[in-house]
Amino acid sequence: MQARISNIQRFCIHDGPGIRTTVFFQGCLMNCWWCHNPESIFYNDVNAEKFSTKYTPEELLDEIKKDLIFFDESGGGVTFSGGEPLLQPEFLKAILKLCKSNGIHNTIDTTGFCNKNVIEEISELSDLFLYDLKIINNEFHEKFTGVSNKLPLQNLKYLSKNDKIINIRIPLIPNITDTKENILEIIKFLSSLNRKHKINLLAYHRTSAGKYEKYNIENKMKDTKPTSEMKIETIKNEFFSEGFDVKIGG
Ligand code: SF4
Repeated sequence: MQARISNIQRFCIHDGPGIRTTVFFQGCLMNCWWCHNPESIFYNDVNAEKFSTKYTPEELLDEIKKDLIFFDESGGGVTFSGGEPLLQPEFLKAILKLCKSNGIHNTIDTTGFCNKNVIEEISELSDLFLYDLKIINNEFHEKFTGVSNKLPLQNLKYLSKNDKIINIRIPLIPNITDTKENILEIIKFLSSLNRKHKINLLAYHRTSAGKYEKYNIENKMKDTKPTSEMKIETIKNEFFSEGFDVKIGG
């Protein structure tokens, strides 16, 4: 069994607790207008081969274990991100099992766009989810990500109902996800879950613009300016006043 991995980044401090090694899976079924890693979207085509390297679970574990000392000292571990790690579920299950048997804390950074049985099986092996929540209105979600939000919302409800540890990550994309209407709908949806999960507000930035140019990928956001700090503070206060533990940044 092998998975396509686009990158392994060490010493990450925003992808879960402590110092982490973040493993980026190649491939995503969404196509968000603001994607910071557009080259990691390609799946099962010639571009996927260009941007990724194949690993077996054992080979990947060897890479992760190189940082064990930092995990032990900082309370860190490994974070599986992407792309979308749940797109290669059999491999993900295998590496999660290996991490468990080696005492390595795992975090799964996901959009939750997968079938229910996948989220059920993976959640049995996960320590923490970083769960992306983008847009509640399905029509807008389809327009800006290319897919329906039905599965991500259903799967988030499932995880919450089953008392999984979840941090909600909300990308603040100017005039797309940061609108008053969307923020209020997100608050309403999150307030209906089993408990109030921690919230991370992730500001949009343009650091990936060069990648779009370099790889000749259409950049629909190229003239977009980041959300103002004042607006981000206002959004933070909206969550805070509804009783959420909310933080700006990862
Ligand atoms: S879900 Fe994440 S990786 Fe996939 S297209 Fe959207 S931003 Fe990119």
